[in-house]
Amino acid sequence: MVAELSAELIAQVQQAAQLLRSAKRICILTGAGISAESGIPTFRDKQTGLWEKFRAEDLASPVAFARDPKLVWSWYQWRRQLVHDKAPNPAHRALAQWQSASASVQQHITLITQNVDDLHEQAGSEAVHLHGHLWKNRCSQCDSVYEDDPNAKDKPLDFDEQLIACPQCGDYIRPDIVWFGESLPVAAWQTAEEAAADCDIFMSIGTSSLVYPAAGLAQLAKQNGAQIIEINPNPTPSTVVDLTLAAKAGAVMPVLIDKVINKSDK
Ligand code: NAD
Ligand code: ZN
Repeated sequence: MVAELSAELIAQVQQAAQLLRSAKRICILTGAGISAESGIPTFRDKQTGLWEKFRAEDLASPVAFARDPKLVWSWYQWRRQLVHDKAPNPAHRALAQWQSASASVQQHITLITQNVDDLHEQAGSEAVHLHGHLWKNRCSQCDSVYEDDPNAKDKPLDFDEQLIACPQCGDYIRPDIVWFGESLPVAAWQTAEEAAADCDIFMSIGTSSLVYPAAGLAQLAKQNGAQIIEINPNPTPSTVVDLTLAAKAGAVMPVLIDKVINKSDK
């Protein structure tokens, strides 16, 4: 793996590892880019097939759901079908490994994600989800949680595009996702703000840093004295970043985390 990284990048990874080893509190924000190598398209990737003519921003909104609930529900069922067989990649696994080793290296790590997939959890991490969960549903009117037969654990996944009526109020069931124009879950946002304001290092992995308020977390960390590390093959124009690792997360994270946990300088 190290052989795939350029000498310049290896030196930067070394620098990042040094910073991370001396940090006590680390706040990590991940975005769609960390799941790209697992085969889940980011929002900036053009949609394919049936959905080619739609922009994600025009489907993931309360206005879109009010206008055409069937269209939006069908799109999410299609996304679920696209994501259901995807597995964590080396970046998710490296973060999980670091989280589980963190107590023994006297570090406190808060992992915050903008992703709605569950690849961090599949890798064994605990993550704070700012934008909700692709696999959960709730009522668009009364907010009650909707579970599709919770006892049928072995039931094949159902990607039916038929709208579902809420058993409580009869309105439509929607995915439990924070759409454009909606506010973030209060508890998750509070955890994120506290972790960002009180960390030594803030790491931003695979996010375009365009979607607020999540994009403001790095600024909050910086204002409170943290150093900011970004991992993104297309570095963002963010002015708060101190160190950029311009590479794919799946290539760079295992090397970086190995250096942090095992203090290895290979
Ligand atoms: P984004 O699509 O705006 O940006 C993705 C970023 O990842 C880009 O800057 C890109 O250069 C970078 N990237 C691409 N491949 C990478 C790799 N291999 N390693 C590291 N970085 C890589 O995504 P965002 O910033 O997360 O914000 C958009 C919104 O999209 C979020 O609200 C999120 O909820 C939603 N979303 C989630 C998923 C998911 O759950 N997997 C997928 C698509 C969109
Ligand atoms: Zn309801």
